[in-house]
Amino acid sequence: MSESPIWHPFTQHGLGEPIPLVSRAEGAALYTQDGRRIVDGISSWWVTTHGHCHPRIMAAIAEQARKLDQIIFAGWTHEPAEALARGLREIMPDELTRVFFSDSGSTSVEVALKMALGFWANRGEARHRIVVMEHSYHGDTIGAMSVGARGVFNAAYAPLLFDVGRVPFPSEPQATYDALERECAAGAAAFIVEPLVLGAGGMLVYPPEVLAEMRRICATYDTLFIADEVMTGWGRTGTLLACEQAGVVPDLLCLSKGLTGGAVPLAVTMASEAIWEAHYSADRSRTFFHSSSYTANPIACAAANANLAIWREEPVAERIATLSLRQEERLTSLSGHPAIANPRRCGTITAMELGSGDAAYLSDLGPHLMAHFRQANVLLRPLGNTVYVMPPYCIEDADLDALYASIREIADALTR
Ligand SMILES: *Cc1c(COP(=O)(O)O)cnc(C)c1O
Repeated sequence: MSESPIWHPFTQHGLGEPIPLVSRAEGAALYTQDGRRIVDGISSWWVTTHGHCHPRIMAAIAEQARKLDQIIFAGWTHEPAEALARGLREIMPDELTRVFFSDSGSTSVEVALKMALGFWANRGEARHRIVVMEHSYHGDTIGAMSVGARGVFNAAYAPLLFDVGRVPFPSEPQATYDALERECAAGAAAFIVEPLVLGAGGMLVYPPEVLAEMRRICATYDTLFIADEVMTGWGRTGTLLACEQAGVVPDLLCLSKGLTGGAVPLAVTMASEAIWEAHYSADRSRTFFHSSSYTANPIACAAANANLAIWREEPVAERIATLSLRQEERLTSLSGHPAIANPRRCGTITAMELGSGDAAYLSDLGPHLMAHFRQANVLLRPLGNTVYVMPPYCIEDADLDALYASIREIADALTR
């Protein structure tokens, strides 16, 4: 039996892999208790946008913690949540008039799905079917898994997952459009999609015009369009929202990860006025029946307000543009390498496949890559044989170089 009683997420403890103890973090660096400095190449699983322990976010948390820790949010409110909702209304699309709080990306997706179904139920129309894109990931709760790709991650739970319509990933967009149009014409309630980049599905990138066309098809048949920007939001793809690049506004928008700059858990689902109105009534049976104990936790809201202030007052857009260029340069320097295939970039994210084509998540290459990166003191966590770099926006050149040097090293080793 191992010493720690902790059961870690997405971790096969039987493989006996070391689990480093991190005691401190700053900017793009993690410091372990045994004295190592690790470059965070994946923003600690896609959450850390501006950098670890950003002083303004840390100060906001400390200050809020002295005033109000937590309060029931059903029928009560507080200034950090009110300020955050106002702040989100200012920077998010005008059409998204309502803000519902929850705690994680998965719950923001559950909320969006329930709002979509509630919308149709309250209008007395029998539309229940949810349509999704192949290779999508929307979280690990039962509903979020139901709308995500099926595979080894959820085979054991498959009998409990609800049925959805699936459209192919748009490597050939017309096939996606045709499938989506069939589903929408048959009365699909909602289509949920990750805009521009399918994250956990392997950093699969598709162009803005495809997003725009999918949005247009949904609108034609009144199928609600849910944008899961949990990963893509907050500048990751080069713009505040990935949807902006396609000029589309969803009916429902899921945000989490970078909402607090990655400091503490918080999520929101933003909804159009029509979805709000379908629930707004003196009839209690039309209430939106969803809550969690820590809905809109004041300390988390204070962190998110500090994030908004950083977006307003610091040159975040410039940092993102610069990082995107620096990422492109380093990606280019690797392209043509015989062990690297399909190098691609979307905004601040780069990705590539390593080794020979077997992309299965459980391929033997995965653990081998992880061991290599661990030994190189970089935090990179490949998805199968897909290696991607998604650093905090503040990363310095030397650290970015260290990430790519470690990728080149393993690519060289694979070639030999
Ligand atoms: C990470 C992620 C989620 C789930 O978020 P959690 O906070 O881990 O529950 C949902 N959708 C997308 C696109 C994600 O990348």
